[in-house]
Amino acid sequence: MSFANVPVDFVEHLEETEAILARVAEEFSPAVFASSLAAEDMVLTDIIFRNELAIDIFTLETGRLHAETLAMLPRISARYGRDITLFQPEQTTVDEYVNKFGRNAFYDSIDLRKECCRIRKVEPLQRALAGKKAWVTGQRRSQSSTRAELAVQEDDVANNMQKFNPLAAWSEDDVWRYLRANQVPYNPLHDKGYPSIGCEPCTRAIQPGEDVRAGRWWWENADTKECGLHMVDGKLIRIRATT
Ligand code: SF4
Repeated sequence: MSFANVPVDFVEHLEETEAILARVAEEFSPAVFASSLAAEDMVLTDIIFRNELAIDIFTLETGRLHAETLAMLPRISARYGRDITLFQPEQTTVDEYVNKFGRNAFYDSIDLRKECCRIRKVEPLQRALAGKKAWVTGQRRSQSSTRAELAVQEDDVANNMQKFNPLAAWSEDDVWRYLRANQVPYNPLHDKGYPSIGCEPCTRAIQPGEDVRAGRWWWENADTKECGLHMVDGKLIRIRATT
C-alpha cells in the first residue's frame, strides 16, 4: 500500500491503528469488532482481514437496514473471502413491540426509540460480546458532540471487557483517503449524503455543513443521539480511559 503526498498526521494515525488492532488480536483474544458496514468500519475491516488478525467481525442485522447496507455483505465476502457474522434481534420480542406500539413507534418518543434500539441492537450486542475479552468499534471523536472525549482504549465495566476505538483520532478525510487508496468497497449511500448510516427509517441524508451525525434520529436533541450500544446506565462508556 502506498499513499502519495499524504499528511504526516494520517500516516501516524494509520500506524497507530494497525498497532492497536495487532495488540488487540494478540493480547485480548477472543476479541470482536462490531461493524455497522459504514465507511469507518470498512477501514478496520480491511486492516483486520488483510492482516489476518484474530478478530471476528460481526454486524447487528436489526431487520431495518437499508438494502444498500445489506448488499455490503456479499461484496465483503467476495473481496476478502471472509464472512461477517450476523446477530439479529429475538423475533418474539420484536413482534411484542410492534403489536403493542407499532412498527415505527420510535418516532413517538425517546423512550420508545430507545426501547426499539434495545431490542434490535443492544440485546443482540450482548450476545455478540458474550465470552469476549475485548471489542473494537469504528467510532471517531469528530463524529459528534457525544464522542468528543472518546478514548482509544476504555474499560467497559458493564460488559467486563476492554473497548478499543482505534479510529478515535481519525478525521473524515483520513477515512476516505484510506478507502480510496486501497479501493476498499463502501456503502453507496455515502455518495448520496449519508456520512453516518444506521437503520433505514432512522437515518436521512444531511445538508452541506451539517454535523456528520445530523441525519441519525434527526428528530431528537443532538445530546441524546446514541442508540445504547456505547452506554452504561444511560451514560456513555468512558468510565476509565486507559490510553
Ligand atoms: S435505529 Fe431506529 S429502527 Fe433501528 S433499532 Fe434504533 S429505533 Fe429501531
